[in-house]
Amino acid sequence: MLTAASPLQYAKERRLTIPIVREEKGECNRMLRITTAGSQRVFIRVRRIISSDVQHAGSNAVLIRDGIIEDIVYTDLVPSDVRVYDFSGLVMTPLLCDYHLHFSASARNSFASIEEKLLAHGIGKAYDGGDAAATGLIAKKALSGDITVLSAGRGIYKAGAYGKYIGVGVRGVEDALRVIDALRSDGIDYIKIVHSGIYDAETDRITSGGFARKELREMISYAQDNGLAVYCHANGARAVQEAVEEGAYAIIHGLGVSDATLSEMHDRKVIFIPTLQAFRSIGRLPGTAAAKNNIERTVDGHLTAVSKAYEKGVTVHPGSDAGPQFIPYGTSFVEELGLMMRAGIPYDHVIRNACSSHLEPLVPAALLLLEGLAIKGMFLQGKFLPSFQHETA
Ligand SMILES: [Zn+2]
Repeated sequence: MLTAASPLQYAKERRLTIPIVREEKGECNRMLRITTAGSQRVFIRVRRIISSDVQHAGSNAVLIRDGIIEDIVYTDLVPSDVRVYDFSGLVMTPLLCDYHLHFSASARNSFASIEEKLLAHGIGKAYDGGDAAATGLIAKKALSGDITVLSAGRGIYKAGAYGKYIGVGVRGVEDALRVIDALRSDGIDYIKIVHSGIYDAETDRITSGGFARKELREMISYAQDNGLAVYCHANGARAVQEAVEEGAYAIIHGLGVSDATLSEMHDRKVIFIPTLQAFRSIGRLPGTAAAKNNIERTVDGHLTAVSKAYEKGVTVHPGSDAGPQFIPYGTSFVEELGLMMRAGIPYDHVIRNACSSHLEPLVPAALLLLEGLAIKGMFLQGKFLPSFQHETA
């Protein structure tokens, strides 16, 4: 945080010309052009900046030159010779990150429209959680423009149990280690292990799936020895506890996580990606009234777990699980942010944990302007794009 004693001192330190223009509040989206045409410097002032670290928590303005962030500051004044965008009512963030989604084989024909949907919802980074055909690795190249994709390639599941749509089945540890080697040479970014089944709303139970604890341990330690973090798909109190205790870097879903395991997650710094909206989305599928009841109760219970996780200081990241038709890209992510707030996590905290990065000088300016969860504008490649429409959870 830059807090010079006075704007004058601030300007002196940065050799800025002190402004001829004093506080000039514009309305939302109204551009105040201060000076010369042809100027390549842009000054954006907002109510406050939120990014993935607290370094710039007190800042309210960003200076951009030729599309590159020059400085991040707190000031009531503006330097001269800049184009000023005054969004004093809005929050500015870097682009956001969807911490869990999937690119399935059918996505191959629609990478451009998926990219558009993600960007329109402020998503500039996404973690692909795996696919039987490792489509995420193709997406990684196809979407390499404005969106960064980190891919698990194929999830690793116990042959015969849940997981065939999102990965590759293995019979035992030897098999699994061979698969990890192959995934490494394919260029994956992390390992995804499927350590349980999924929630079945009709029976109100978790379907079968996952590994013996010893197998899980060996797989995780092999991945770690090779510098790869392991994200575990885990539902059910025991599966989540095992994944946490055996060294998972992150828990995806985590349905039924116990209070004691949440405390362990805090102590071991294990990340929680609860995919609340994905569970809620099951209600959009055809099903009996009893099943719909079960889903509502399950989502309520999961909201309580997320609330406890926040209270215990566990890092909770938003992941939409988008990919299947009933979980659309972009909108599901915004709904996930809304559900995290419904769980009682304060707005600034939700947004901070949704940011794809922190803000720093000398990197290309890719910035969002938010009013609540609605995107009011975006700076991308040095250009202001005002046309992003209202989205609410
Ligand atoms: Zn998933």
